[in-house]
Amino acid sequence: MGTLFTLTALANQDPARAFQAAFLRIGELDQKLSDYKDDSELNRVCRAGGGEVSEDLATVIDAAQRLAADSDGAFDITLGPVIRLWRAARRAGKLPAPADLNAAADRTGYTHLSIRGREVRLELPQMQLDVGAIGKGFAAREALKVLASNGVTHALVAASGDLAVGGGDWRVGLCCGRVFTLSHCGVSTSGDSEQFAVIDGVRYSHIIDPHTHRPLTTPHTVSVVAPDPMTADGLATALYVLGPGRSRALLARYPAAKAYFG
Ligand code: AMP
Ligand code: MG
Repeated sequence: MGTLFTLTALANQDPARAFQAAFLRIGELDQKLSDYKDDSELNRVCRAGGGEVSEDLATVIDAAQRLAADSDGAFDITLGPVIRLWRAARRAGKLPAPADLNAAADRTGYTHLSIRGREVRLELPQMQLDVGAIGKGFAAREALKVLASNGVTHALVAASGDLAVGGGDWRVGLCCGRVFTLSHCGVSTSGDSEQFAVIDGVRYSHIIDPHTHRPLTTPHTVSVVAPDPMTADGLATALYVLGPGRSRALLARYPAAKAYFG
C-alpha cells in the first residue's frame, strides 16, 4: 500500500508473536489491495475487467462504493488512471498533457463499477481501481483484530495518517491541534500537509477532485474520529474533497463520526 505500518502495544508479556501475526495479515492485505504491486489481486481484477474477488477486497470495494454514493462522487476509487497520471506529474514536476488527462478521465467514474456480493464488474475498458484512501484504515483495523485475538488488546496500529485505536487510553493529536483520549475507534487525517508537490508555483495535494480530475489545491486538512477505522479513513478523504462548507450532508449519513477541520 506504499506506506509504513507501526504497531504499539501496552502489554505485560512480550507482544512479539502477536506483532508477527499482525504484520503477516498486513502483508496479506497489501498483496490484495495494493495498486503499486503489479500482481496484487486488485490489479489482476482490473486487468480482467472484474470477476469474483476475495472477501477482504469485496469488503473494501463495497464500503468505497457506499461512500462514493453518499458523497455524490467526491470519493471515487475508480480514479486510478488519473491518480497515476498525477503521480507521474508530481515526480516529473510537470503538469500532465490535457489530452492524456482527458483520456485518463474517460476511464473513470464510480457508477461504472459494480459489486454484488463478491462479484465485481468494471464496465469501461482499462479501468484502474485505487483503494489507497480506504485500504489503510481497513488494514489497520484488521491488524488490530489480529493483535486482540493474540491477547494484545491494548494496542494502536498506525499507517501514516490512519490509526486504529484499541483498548486503553491513547492520547491522539488531531490536525486541528486538539488532543483527545481515545479507545476502540479509528482516527484518520487527510490533507496536503504531508504529500504534496509544487508545480509551476502551485501546491497540489495527492487527492483528486473527481469533478475536475485535478488535484485539490486547498490548504486545509481534516481529521475524522469514527468507531470503524475503515470508515474514518474513507470519510477523511471524502471530507477533504468536499471541504468544510459541503461536509454537512455527508456527515449526517455517518452520525457516529466526528470531523475536525484544521
Ligand atoms: P488518504 O491519504 O486516505 O486521504 O488517501 C489518499 C489517496 O487516495 C491518494 O494517494 C490516492 O491514491 C487516492 N485518492 C485520491 N483522490 C481520491 C478521491 N477523490 N477518492 C478516493 N481516493 C482518492
Ligand atoms: Mg482516507
